[in-house]
Amino acid sequence: MNGYWSRLARKLEPYVPGEQPGDGTYIKLNTNENPYGPSPKVLEAVRRAVDESLRLYPDPSCDAFISAVSARYGVKKDQVFAGNGSDEVLAFSFMAFFDPDRPIVFPDITYSFYPVYATLFGLNYVTVPLDSEFKIRPEQMRSSGGVVIANPNAPTGRALPLSEIRSILDGNPGAVVIVDEAYVDFGGQSAIGLIDEYPNLLVVHTFSKSRALAGMRIGLAFGDSGLIRALESVKNSFNSYTLDRLALAAGTAALEDDEYYKGTSRKVIETREWFTAELRKRDFSVTDSSANFVFASHSRVRAEELYHRLRDNRILVRYFKKPLIDNHLRISIGTDEDMRTVIEVLDRIL
Ligand SMILES: *Cc1c(COP(=O)(O)O)cnc(C)c1O
Repeated sequence: MNGYWSRLARKLEPYVPGEQPGDGTYIKLNTNENPYGPSPKVLEAVRRAVDESLRLYPDPSCDAFISAVSARYGVKKDQVFAGNGSDEVLAFSFMAFFDPDRPIVFPDITYSFYPVYATLFGLNYVTVPLDSEFKIRPEQMRSSGGVVIANPNAPTGRALPLSEIRSILDGNPGAVVIVDEAYVDFGGQSAIGLIDEYPNLLVVHTFSKSRALAGMRIGLAFGDSGLIRALESVKNSFNSYTLDRLALAAGTAALEDDEYYKGTSRKVIETREWFTAELRKRDFSVTDSSANFVFASHSRVRAEELYHRLRDNRILVRYFKKPLIDNHLRISIGTDEDMRTVIEVLDRIL
């Protein structure tokens, strides 16, 4: 910080992403990336898109991509918004739907970008404690200012059934409820089917996890056309071209190869179930995860020590030194071989 910083820049507390070591020698289980690559059809589509047309700006309305989303999810085109990763979609949503004089609510343990956006946009927020089993308490998610939840939640992996999402929506008719479904393809129930019924519901998706395109930065929002128009308005006051030509090609092709992604998601789920059982045999308590990671705590060895010992063995997992979760590790699900190696290394450490 120096004397040139704005008052805003001085008070920011930026999000700290998981590390991305450049040398490729780690088993990388710290940022919930997909261990399987994108569909071969996606790679082909991106290669095809690399040509002379890159001199032209991309389509600011993302029309072809949004048509593909609309067909794939059975929603109207004016119920879809596309952005440069769901992080950007979330940031635009905070700007579009929340005001400083009405505090928003989110759980005390959730995606740590939510408080960062609130600070960036000068919003006030209240956090609601999870219950003792790390579950969101739907009846306490109430605010006239807005509600944000991740479902399945991060970093716990726990999911709420649709009936409880409904009760949150019914309890907040005057405010926008954002449901961040980054991990829904690994076992959650999507709320997209509720957008016709609830004009205050915004469902946010990403192509970074189940569609294995974290490097492309593609996110979506689904909601009533009235909400989507507000997002367009924010976006077009910021950057008309948030999705580049290669990302649009990749996203469109990904939607056309659902079979491939159903297969890789099923594989991740199977590996997660195997890995969870192995951890439990070794005195870990592990939440029932509906995501592509597990959240685990050992009965004797502290999470921080395990984090360092795993790291010494070239295995990267995520450790959050924060109240309530500082004795837990969040471990992304890799290939079967990756997870067998983790178990072998744990057996040596414990
Ligand atoms: C990974 C993640 C995101 C961010 O996704 P991007 O599309 O890569 O920006 C958003 N929300 C949650 C809960 C996530 O885990």
